[in-house]
Amino acid sequence: MNLNRRAFLKLSGVSAASAAVLLFAEEREALARDLKASRITRAREVPSVCPHCSVGCGLIGYVREGQLVQVEGNPDSPINEGSLCPKGAATMQFAYDGVGRPNPLRQLTAKIRRPGSDRWEEIGIDEALDRIAQRIKETRDAGFVEKNADGLVVNRAESIAHIGSACIDNEECYLITKLMRALGVVYLEHHARI
Ligand code: SF4
Repeated sequence: MNLNRRAFLKLSGVSAASAAVLLFAEEREALARDLKASRITRAREVPSVCPHCSVGCGLIGYVREGQLVQVEGNPDSPINEGSLCPKGAATMQFAYDGVGRPNPLRQLTAKIRRPGSDRWEEIGIDEALDRIAQRIKETRDAGFVEKNADGLVVNRAESIAHIGSACIDNEECYLITKLMRALGVVYLEHHARI
């Protein structure tokens, strides 16, 4: 190959930059491996299930001194055999933001925005549940259809709808469906179908 000085310097520069990028990437991978290993050393393994979708992949939460320090796929799970999709792999972010601080978006208390107010207030869980029950009762009573146009008893709560979530597991789906049917709710859907 016939290289002039300028082309040679250019090529050397590109090669050096590529080598540096490669080295940097390798170093980063090694660092990430060390960090992961140091995180799970002496941590207690807590098997769990990914809450993000109905596939239900098995997870292992690593807990040290009461803190969740790592989440990985459970290799013993027959569903995912240790692998996780990006959503499952990001499960740590339920608890922490990207740099280890408690996730500021995580809601740990019940909140209410009262009629006419422009802010949310914290309330006790009992008060929140009472309020939800009261609102469901009022809404159901206001729109309840006892008989249809032909005079047949239908007992429908047509003023309430329920939308399920991919984060709901089979048992939760069962209980929600039972509750909705008991209330007479007929508009019962799953967000994957919308
Ligand atoms: S979100 Fe991903 S990791 Fe979680 S259960 Fe579904 S497929 Fe599995």
